[in-house]
Amino acid sequence: EPDVTEYKKSLAIHVSGFDVPRPVKTFEDCGFSVELMKAIAKQAYERPTPIQCQALPIVLSGRDVIGIAKTGSGKTASFVLPMIVHIMDQPELGKEEGPIGVICAPTRELAHQIYLEAKKFARASGIRVSAVYGGMSKLDQFKELKAGCEIVVATPGRLIDMIKMKALTMLRATYLVLDEADRMFDLGFEPQVRSIVGQIRPDRQTLLFSATMPRKVEKLAREILTDPVRITVGEVG
Ligand code: ADP
Ligand code: MG
Repeated sequence: EPDVTEYKKSLAIHVSGFDVPRPVKTFEDCGFSVELMKAIAKQAYERPTPIQCQALPIVLSGRDVIGIAKTGSGKTASFVLPMIVHIMDQPELGKEEGPIGVICAPTRELAHQIYLEAKKFARASGIRVSAVYGGMSKLDQFKELKAGCEIVVATPGRLIDMIKMKALTMLRATYLVLDEADRMFDLGFEPQVRSIVGQIRPDRQTLLFSATMPRKVEKLAREILTDPVRITVGEVG
């Protein structure tokens, strides 16, 4: 007999924080542009996953979020789709350079996956996405960043290298995502993560995702997020 209790536990969602927007049931409820709805349809995403139902309206309202969920719950779209809305909402910024959305991930594989996912949704809106991680030529990356982008997906070490080389600045960044924060800490990226956060204006929107919340990650969240909504999916540590 299947263990229904364990299954239900894995689906349980807990949301805490002040004045939390109501969850959505459909992508139509999110008020996305025609371009974005077309891109979602192209991915054959019929309806938002449970974490997307909760997170999309909260992130779209501009709130900071701590998302605690295991892999496979659909976290990427829950930060990429609102990031595209956020970027399309910006007034023309003239000659100011650098990405508006910054996504940090622990490994090049994860950064690459997020990059591919972001590109699928961003392209139709004319938003440029760049990937920055080790194992690629620094010169090629430098040139690509110099050409400009609105979203950068990066591992922390290589992003710091690129900032030092003046390939990009964080002056225009207003939307920051730290994905798999616990793994970034496990890999020793805490100083790099803190350095990146320190270069982005404090009135940014910040989203932090993690499968677990060890004390060090909890401390970082308290320091860098403002009035966050905490979304927990399933029984996670
Ligand atoms: P996580 O970051 O939580 O591990 P991902 O964002 O990588 O999860 O998503 C896991 C998989 O589910 C990916 O293949 C993604 O394309 C797919 N996916 C995400 N959202 C939806 C959705 N609403 N409907 C169908 N598939 C989805
Ligand atoms: Mg993920």
